[in-house]
Amino acid sequence: MLGQPFEFQGKAIVGQGVGRRKILAGAAAGLATPFLSAPLTAQITPRSFAGRNTIDRGEAATILHVRTAEPVLAITFDDGPHPYHTPHLLDILAERGIRATFFVIGRNAVRYPLILQRMLAEGHEIGNHSWSHPDLHGHSDASVLSQIDRTNQAVVDAVGRPPVLMRPPYGNLYNRHRMLLFETRGMPTVLWSVDPLDWQHPGSAVVTQRIVGRCHRGAVILAHDIHRSTVRAMPATLSGIGERGYRFVTMSELIGWPRWDRRRLRLI
Ligand SMILES: [Zn+2]
Repeated sequence: MLGQPFEFQGKAIVGQGVGRRKILAGAAAGLATPFLSAPLTAQITPRSFAGRNTIDRGEAATILHVRTAEPVLAITFDDGPHPYHTPHLLDILAERGIRATFFVIGRNAVRYPLILQRMLAEGHEIGNHSWSHPDLHGHSDASVLSQIDRTNQAVVDAVGRPPVLMRPPYGNLYNRHRMLLFETRGMPTVLWSVDPLDWQHPGSAVVTQRIVGRCHRGAVILAHDIHRSTVRAMPATLSGIGERGYRFVTMSELIGWPRWDRRRLRLI
């Protein structure tokens, strides 16, 4: 759809010294994962990514949340980077020492590479949210892969390493395409378990109330760093989550993978 040549073999992600198979095996072991101080129960196999009782809608290779005994959760921000709101959000996160996960749109990443560099430098994780934010339902295999591959390349161009996780726009991606991305790119699909519907602009207080009230152990919180009201909601939201006793981790950490900002990753 984008007129790009289709290269099925071209862009798998590998971690240097930690091949995909080894990552999968380590994460599938769950309790034996060496990357966290206490075990998470995420399990990673080609047919059931997130383990028992965590795939609420029956999709393969999909993470909605993680079962864990630890009071950890991940807050994620989609659709950026935004030239004003994202740096403001980064300031808020830095003041609190909180690391988040940003699912960026490729064409925005190309426009604002310095913001991506700041994300990496401050310990955040960058995920893939497609190139141009289409509803991928109805797209061909080639088009889906092109949307992901162009964005992976844009992130590499900005910060020297590719994303390892993807989130489809609107959460829409056929199971067949989730498996295609997992099997050919090593990228699971990350959805969410807490959605404040911040894109409807309900007001900062409501965004805070919804997130703080609904967060849980192993939660994946969805928000958008392109909305002023969302960013304005974050100080109270982050404080409220902390007061409930939860600790923030990045998406990779939540599923038992190494911290993305510390891995050696490249496209092959
Ligand atoms: Zn989005």
